[in-house]
Parts: sequence; C-alpha cells; structure tokens
Amino acid sequence: MNTRDQTIHAKQALLPGGWHGDVRLDVSGEALISIETGAKPQAGDVRIDLAVPGLCNLHSHAFQRAMAGLAERRGPGSDSFWSWREEMYRFALTMDPDDVEAVAAQLYVEMLEAGFTRVGEFHYLHHDKDGAPYANLAEMAERIASASRASGIAMTLLPVLYARGGFGGQTANDGQRRFLNSPERFQKLWQASTEVIARLPGGEIGVAPHSLRSVKPDELRLAIEIAGERPIHIHIAEQVREVEDCIAWSGRRPVEWLLANASVDERWCLIHATHMTHAETLGVAASGAVAGLCPLTEANLGDGVFNAEPFVAAGGRIGIGSDSNIEISAASELKMLEYSQRLSLRRRNVMASAAGQSTGRSLFDAALSGGHQALGSGPAGLRVGGVADIVALGRSSSALSALSPDRVLDAWIFAPGAVSVDRVWARGALLVENGRHHARDAIAARFDRTMERLLG
Ligand SMILES: [Zn+2]
Repeated sequence: MNTRDQTIHAKQALLPGGWHGDVRLDVSGEALISIETGAKPQAGDVRIDLAVPGLCNLHSHAFQRAMAGLAERRGPGSDSFWSWREEMYRFALTMDPDDVEAVAAQLYVEMLEAGFTRVGEFHYLHHDKDGAPYANLAEMAERIASASRASGIAMTLLPVLYARGGFGGQTANDGQRRFLNSPERFQKLWQASTEVIARLPGGEIGVAPHSLRSVKPDELRLAIEIAGERPIHIHIAEQVREVEDCIAWSGRRPVEWLLANASVDERWCLIHATHMTHAETLGVAASGAVAGLCPLTEANLGDGVFNAEPFVAAGGRIGIGSDSNIEISAASELKMLEYSQRLSLRRRNVMASAAGQSTGRSLFDAALSGGHQALGSGPAGLRVGGVADIVALGRSSSALSALSPDRVLDAWIFAPGAVSVDRVWARGALLVENGRHHARDAIAARFDRTMERLLG
C-alpha cells in the first residue's frame, strides 16, 4: 500500500516511557524503524497532534454486531442475560457465511475508527444453520479472516470449543447447534483455522474453551494442551446463576474451580470475571492472567460490576473488549469501567493509579498492556522494531491546546466530542483519516444490504 513508508511528526507521542514532545515516527512497511524525540518536523512529514499506540479489543463476537440495539424491548417476564441469550441464538441461526463476513467487516471498520488496531475474535459460530459442519470446517473462520483483511485490523482468532449445554456435561440445546464440536472435530477445526491465520497479515491464534458450562474438565485440558504457549480465553463468572450452577456441580465457584484445576498464568484471559470473592480476586491478580473486561456489554446485559480496585491494587492486569458489539468505542469502554466503579463505590477517579495521576491515562496504560498480553501480540506501545499501530487524537478546539497530553486522554474518554480519533495507521497503513475508514462506504453499503435481508 502506498501509504506505508512515511514519517509522522507528532507534537506529543505516548512512548513506553511516557509522553515526549516533537516526536518523529519513521514507518517502513509494517514497522516503526526509528523514533526521534525533540525533533522539529521536516518537509514531507505527516503532521499530527497527539500520537498514542493502537489499543487491542480483546473480546468480540463479530456476528452479534448485527443485533446491536435489537434486544432492548421488555419481554413478558423479568429480562436477563439468559433471555437475551435466547434472542441472540435466534439471530445467530439466521446468518449465513456471507452475512457474517459483511457484518464483521463493518464491525472491524468501526473498531479501527474507534482506535482499536487488533481484535480478539472469540469465534464460536462454526457450522451451517442445521448444525452440520460446512464442507470446509473453517468456512466461518475464513469469512472472519476475510473481514479482517478487508478492514486492515489485525486479528487474534480464538476458535471456541463449545461441547456441552451446561455444567456437568449437560446436553446442548437446539439453539446451540451451530457452536458445537466434539473434542476430535474441534482439533481438526483448530488445525484448519491455524492455516487460515497463517495466510492473514497480522494474524495470531489462540484457543477458547467457551466457559466452564460448555466443556467438561477433560475437554478443558485438551483445549489447554492445544494452546501450548498461545493465548487461552474463557468466559467466567459473568452471571450469578452461573456461579450458583457451578457450586451445585462442583462445590466451588467458577474462578475458584479454575484456579484449583488449571494452571492459570499469563497465557490466560478470563473474560468478565465479574463475580469473584476477595480471595478469588487476589488469586487471579497473582496468576498473571488478564481480566478481560467488557464494560458496555456487562452493563447492557445486567451482569454486575467487576471489583476493579482491589484487583488492580494487587497487581491484577486488565484489558477491554466490546463483546456483544452493541457500541464500538474504546473511550466509552474505559469510561464505563470507571463509571461502574464510581457508581458502586460512590467515589471518583477510582482507576487512577496514584494521587495526582490522570484516570484516563491510568485506564489507557492498563488496557494497552493487558490487551497485548491477552492477544499474544508482543510488547505493547510505540517502540523501534515494533508494529506501526498509531492512533492520532485530535482536539476539536484551539481552546484545548493548552491541555497537557494526559488531560487530552481524560477528555477523549470522559468528554466525548472534545477529543476524537483523527487518523489511524494499522501495521503501517493509514486506514482512517478525519475519523473515517477509507473503505467505509463500500463496506457499509454491503452491511446495509445484509441487514435489510436479515431484518426483512
Ligand atoms: Zn463474550
């Protein structure tokens, strides 16, 4: 792409050691090949205001973007995660591979426009509408990868092992038929998925046992074996009923059971981990695993509030994901995370790392490093030899020009409109300008046609 090989001059850039002024970022191919600080712009430089590294969106179910906003009507009883899940199953059963590809491409364009440069796709919609596998077992993985390629977002694909309908090896229900695999078939699917990812620029692969509900202990062990040193993601302790069912099955709470029965370490990303005792909170923090928080989805589904303060105080690592993809905004995810803490603790600036520290900066730093760890994508941040994933933030008014860069991050997260994503380079390619992805129109037109048919 002819937008590669360029030098970007940022008035301020967030480097691994902190903010620096007058930074020249030299991009060649996909990589940052030199970083010069305190340097005046030169002729030919692309000039931007603030440069920050692209964030990882560590948890997405792409197909669910198609039902964003469509499950907000009250049902006959008390609505919950479980009634939403029935609605989601109905929607999942209507989508064919073309639909999934079109929806995923739209979603990934929105992610890039929001400042995400890598997505962790927790991919479980594997089979045809009747539950039979496609002739190509990895058909759906191919479509998701095509959407990644079309949009330019990097992907860590997390093929999901979903084998059971509930704790203790319960039979799956009919609505889950497109997700299911025996351990033997999953091994083939995972192998085929690795070949898809090997052909995808920026592609990485991990494994995702869906939840403790959906795999028996021996199936969980198999998933861990397949992973080797790669990322392992699992949904855990999202719902109170899930905790109760896990206790009824095993005598232990989900996180307690996992910590006792699996070697949870830095490879792991525990998605949600909403309902944890203090001992579980400290146990996950000490393990080095990332807690994969999805604050907007957790609010939308009425999951509960993650106990962030003691977790982070104990050295716990966090990252953010958009999960059900009801809204795609890195800034809003970080804001919701902080606001959930404020509402439950009735205090402000809970996630700021120390007195005098910016809350926005603390949230950004945590999500940056946790996201890269969880997606197995190397060290985070703008560094020489690293991937050129660069997000330019722009201020809406010259009145904001006196703000320190940390305050600009605060404004981006807490005062939408004051600061926004202006340009995004992903793996060296300039994909977003003036907040718009260069392929937005074509991808959105296909998405609109798909949605018309799905809703028609
Ligand atoms: Zn999820």
